[in-house]
Amino acid sequence: MIQLYIPLNFLGVIYREIKQSLTDLDKMFVLLEKEREVRDAPEARPLAGHDSTVRFEDVSFAYEAARPILKHVSFEIPAGKTVAVVGPSGSGKSTLARLLYRFYDVQQGRITIGGEDIRQVTQASVRQAIGIVPQDTVLFNDTVEYNIAYGRPGASREEVEEAARAARIHDFIVHTPKGYETMVGERGLKLSGGEKQRVAIARTLLKNPPIVIFDEATSALDSANERAIQSELKSAARNKTTLVIAHRLSTVVDAHEILVLESGVIVERGTHAQLLEGQGKYAQMWRLQKLEAEPVL
Ligand code: ADP
Ligand code: MG
Repeated sequence: MIQLYIPLNFLGVIYREIKQSLTDLDKMFVLLEKEREVRDAPEARPLAGHDSTVRFEDVSFAYEAARPILKHVSFEIPAGKTVAVVGPSGSGKSTLARLLYRFYDVQQGRITIGGEDIRQVTQASVRQAIGIVPQDTVLFNDTVEYNIAYGRPGASREEVEEAARAARIHDFIVHTPKGYETMVGERGLKLSGGEKQRVAIARTLLKNPPIVIFDEATSALDSANERAIQSELKSAARNKTTLVIAHRLSTVVDAHEILVLESGVIVERGTHAQLLEGQGKYAQMWRLQKLEAEPVL
């Protein structure tokens, strides 16, 4: 009995560990959504990478055949410039980000980086070239350091701290029980939406990719926190080819081009000044947000 008990108990521990990591893996796949369905082409080479210009050319996409989500979407983000996407929730904004990161393949048209169709190059090289600060960052059940260094495995503590400082999360980290060794995630220290987003920004700064995607938080951040994080987002986007999905219009004013997306269709596009002049939906959204921002009394 005793002999049996010990190994079984030991197995129980291992089993729990395995089960836990499987749960985490499952979560990751939910997070990365159907990532496994996208496969490298047989002869796929890495992305050449000397030009980070992003183009969506007549892209249409549906998660389920019966329900088209994006319809004939075309735009270009010249290398080093920012294109912003605004529009109501459910209009397909995050889907654009998922397609560029190649969580899914487009069903019509193509997405290119530096002129190369992202379906023709290795998935790994596409993801290497892109940093994402997602709408709702999910952290690994590991240390703060691991979660930041995940952007660039092998980074030194100094590099991790430098990124954390730039994302203005360093001071918070050093005041946690074990500093950079503090466990975070579901089984560790719970971070607020804003703190998680800063960790994701630090990760992206450390990764230093030529292309960045910001899917700005809506539910994850209150508006004070959202405003506070703007300057960190801005510095992470400096000189990068940037796709920003914007909740607050104040973040898109300087964009090279702003796209207004509705039900998967670009219904308006232009610079901030052009769109205001156009007196269309964007101008209306802008007026509404200004009213919200200004104190009533
Ligand atoms: P936005 O970011 O503009 O709020 P999304 O791109 O997240 O919109 O979603 C666009 C539409 O696609 C929504 O109607 C959403 O319900 C649907 N959708 C998103 N993800 C999936 C999915 N994995 N499977 C099926 N439908 C999805
Ligand atoms: Mg979204």
